[in-house]
Amino acid sequence: MEREDKIVTGIFLGLGTNEGDRVENLKMALTLINEEVGDITALSGVYETDPWGFESSNRFLNMVANVTTRLVPAALLKKTQEIEKKLGRVRSQVRFSSRSMDVDILLFGNRVINQRKLTVPHPLIPERRFVLVPLCDLIPGRIHPVLKQTFSELLIQCRDTGNVSRTEISLELPGKRKG
Ligand code: ADP
Ligand code: MG
Repeated sequence: MEREDKIVTGIFLGLGTNEGDRVENLKMALTLINEEVGDITALSGVYETDPWGFESSNRFLNMVANVTTRLVPAALLKKTQEIEKKLGRVRSQVRFSSRSMDVDILLFGNRVINQRKLTVPHPLIPERRFVLVPLCDLIPGRIHPVLKQTFSELLIQCRDTGNVSRTEISLELPGKRKG
């Protein structure tokens, strides 16, 4: 797989799950990300949120992880999709549906990427409270590389009315790999 010359920092992944044992799904996703993508350096709180773009009685748990990687963006997408698959995600034809694990690439440093299968920053960040709220736990003052506003400004302006509630769930950073 193609690699970056140096480790890239400032990558933010958005995790979401509304099927199965949601806390276990998050823990397993974080472990796999840490092993296969790169070190996780920070985690947002865990939020319980309303489904966005569809109706379901299963609410989501959402969070954001700050990771580092040597993978190039396309390879990172492939890897995150493999992790979704390992965690039992069955891709449905319907956009915005229930899933055991969704991993979205929100930011890749300050890079702007417009590939057929990958748009970064993730285009729906400004529309989604369930992304902006956890992102603001970590980088409220960072400037969105395209919109040129901070994430806390984007949150204030966001029209999404979906409920996003902080939970008591506290997840630990997976341990560093040895060797
Ligand atoms: P969603 O996350 O919007 O509910 P999916 O996870 O099913 O939907 O993703 C649909 C497609 O979005 C993927 O096949 C992927 O190629 C594409 N995609 C584009 N940009 C991104 C991104 N930044 N992160 C993740 N997927 C992306
Ligand atoms: Mg996705």
